[in-house]
Amino acid sequence: MKAALVLVLELLLLAISPAWALSLFGAKLLRVVPEKHDQLLHLRKMLVESPYDFWREPRKIGLPVDIMVTISQLPKIIYDLTSQGLMAEEMIKDVGQMIVERVSIYSRGPRAMDWEDFHDYTTIIQWLNSLVKDYPDLCTLEDVGKSYEDRAIKLLKVGKGGADKPVVFVESGMHAREWIAPATVTYMINKLVTNSTEYENLLSQVNFYFMPVTNPDGYDFTFMRSISQNQDRLWRKTRSDYRPKESEDLDDSRCIGVDLNRNWDYHWMEVGSCNNSCRQVYAGPEPFSEVENRVVRDLVMGLRSKIKMYLSFHSYGQQFLYPWAYTSVYPDDWKMLDRLARKAVSALTSVYGTGFEVGTACEILDGAKSGGSIDWVKGVAGVKLAYAVELGECMIPIASDIILTGEETFQAFLVLANHIKETYSH
Ligand SMILES: [Zn+2]
Repeated sequence: MKAALVLVLELLLLAISPAWALSLFGAKLLRVVPEKHDQLLHLRKMLVESPYDFWREPRKIGLPVDIMVTISQLPKIIYDLTSQGLMAEEMIKDVGQMIVERVSIYSRGPRAMDWEDFHDYTTIIQWLNSLVKDYPDLCTLEDVGKSYEDRAIKLLKVGKGGADKPVVFVESGMHAREWIAPATVTYMINKLVTNSTEYENLLSQVNFYFMPVTNPDGYDFTFMRSISQNQDRLWRKTRSDYRPKESEDLDDSRCIGVDLNRNWDYHWMEVGSCNNSCRQVYAGPEPFSEVENRVVRDLVMGLRSKIKMYLSFHSYGQQFLYPWAYTSVYPDDWKMLDRLARKAVSALTSVYGTGFEVGTACEILDGAKSGGSIDWVKGVAGVKLAYAVELGECMIPIASDIILTGEETFQAFLVLANHIKETYSH
């Protein structure tokens, strides 16, 4: 009787939900490992031309590429991969089911800020407000702009040394679905603020500017509280609408939004990005088309003489990346960038043994991509030390990963922050 009732409910759900909303049930994460140059090139072509969702992009020969495909896409991609001699291994059997199991907000609704679970935009903003109330001598919160859908973009300033101190600028959440990034950055803020006596010296000599949710619309969209709409959990782009009038794509809803990390005005659209709005790596109709990026651009330009380091947190892949992403040529000062990154990673690894790759974004991802934030920050704003950090090893982490990731990443952060203190404060 109970089983029959469940079946009836499931059928009812199928009947009332639009087809796209259910498309992640049965969706699979496939892993292929290119063994030849031709196969690598084919996968790169698929990244910009196909509708598949690349969770881990093609890098080098011998390194895994993870591609998420819906049930309806499966026959075509298997045919396509096989014709290139690529064998796909199934890494996740049912992505939709995995989301339902791992995203507890579907069953419990939002709760107060902590690091035992992921939190939505509103909860994070309320928590930032509470920090200002609880630590008025240490924290200030500024509304620095509005998103496309009119959500506030907030910047938390932490420090007690006065306005003339060097600045470390930290942002996360540019890619909406990379939940571990805002979770880790808020963990680090909390650690710094609630232990301010321990970090007194650092906080009096360096100012920290944190933007934990850089893409508020996209992030909020990933928290749509409905199991039937679990596709939203994997939203990556902004929510601006540049849909072509007559889209060839059957699933038009995927044609909304721009990849913020392809939209910066430095070698924009030259390589590894795409002018089709239906793709995950859509660079936008023009550089800085996205208001969220313009907000960060204006802040960084206004503070460029003070900002000594820019950190951009993403997931996943366990990589510590520095410019350039758009070319295989190394920046002149790459040795300094590399040395400091390796020191930070060594502190991170000492906590739980987690390994990170270190190198230029182009080298580690083995392929140039232009329009990313760290390239613009270094190439245009002139901030020497710019890093992008890919946290974790899964797109849909479990909540218990937050504290572990927070603890180890905070050790890397302290190395970086202390470097700024020792180099620039006087
Ligand atoms: Zn990202």
